[in-house]
Amino acid sequence: MQDYLAKAMAYDGFVRAYAVNATQTVSQAQKRHDTWNTSSAALGRTLIGGLLLGSTVKGEDTISVRVQGSGPAGAVIVTSNGSGDVKGYVQNPHVSLPLNEEGKIDVKGAIGTQGIFSVTKDLGLKEPFSGQTPIVSGELGEDFTYYLAESEQIPSSVGLSVSVDVDDSIKTAGGFMLQMMPGASEEVVAALEKRIRQLPKVSVMLDDGKSPEEILDFIFADEPITILEKLSVQFRCDCSKERFAKGLISLGTQELQEMIEQDHGAEAVCTFCQEKYKFSEQELELLKQEAVDN
Ligand SMILES: [Zn+2]
Repeated sequence: MQDYLAKAMAYDGFVRAYAVNATQTVSQAQKRHDTWNTSSAALGRTLIGGLLLGSTVKGEDTISVRVQGSGPAGAVIVTSNGSGDVKGYVQNPHVSLPLNEEGKIDVKGAIGTQGIFSVTKDLGLKEPFSGQTPIVSGELGEDFTYYLAESEQIPSSVGLSVSVDVDDSIKTAGGFMLQMMPGASEEVVAALEKRIRQLPKVSVMLDDGKSPEEILDFIFADEPITILEKLSVQFRCDCSKERFAKGLISLGTQELQEMIEQDHGAEAVCTFCQEKYKFSEQELELLKQEAVDN
């Protein structure tokens, strides 16, 4: 089934709520990058967080999240847009740590507890907006929450969850984000905080077959919610052979000549999606001519 994200509001519009089933999206990332379980969960949670943040901007506007921690996973980089597309990678895809004391995947161990969490938003304005906060947890949900509160002054709660099977495939992946609008009363905030503490993990709710709307209904319990929109989400990279050709041209004639003579061709691999693009000797000759023309 196609992944999607549901947007809703509650408490007379004082609370915005988002929930997403990203199982196929994270599964796609896992296969493309051949991630091992702890790396899968670290990348998967960041992809889910990216989708949730991305759903707050307009269609072509983009959001990039960079988690640069001190742990063995290295940096995790994710870019999403308002149309539900997300792409991303983890510097070290092959991290597999023992489960933590709670018997859960040790995302904190892979990300590390020191480092920088940064977000860049390109909203089609002259200057992109960017903000950063220190990593406060390494489990990522809390890091997204802290970033939103500190950098964007939006009191929020973000839950991110990835469940990995014994064969490294993704069982379920999803998350939610609640945001308090200005003027939300303390009673509303307190009621939601209490509710969130009692929630099972999103992956458990997805395992039970709950849809994003049902997850939101469950979070708000007896409080009615209004579903505003459903958005299809997917792992999608915007790379192309043409874009890599431009990169090759910019290397200049000398380097292209070396590729022709020594390697008899070139292969470029997209960092975000692992798609491979091959360039034959003849194609490199043509690119070399363009480089000359520059
Ligand atoms: Zn790509």
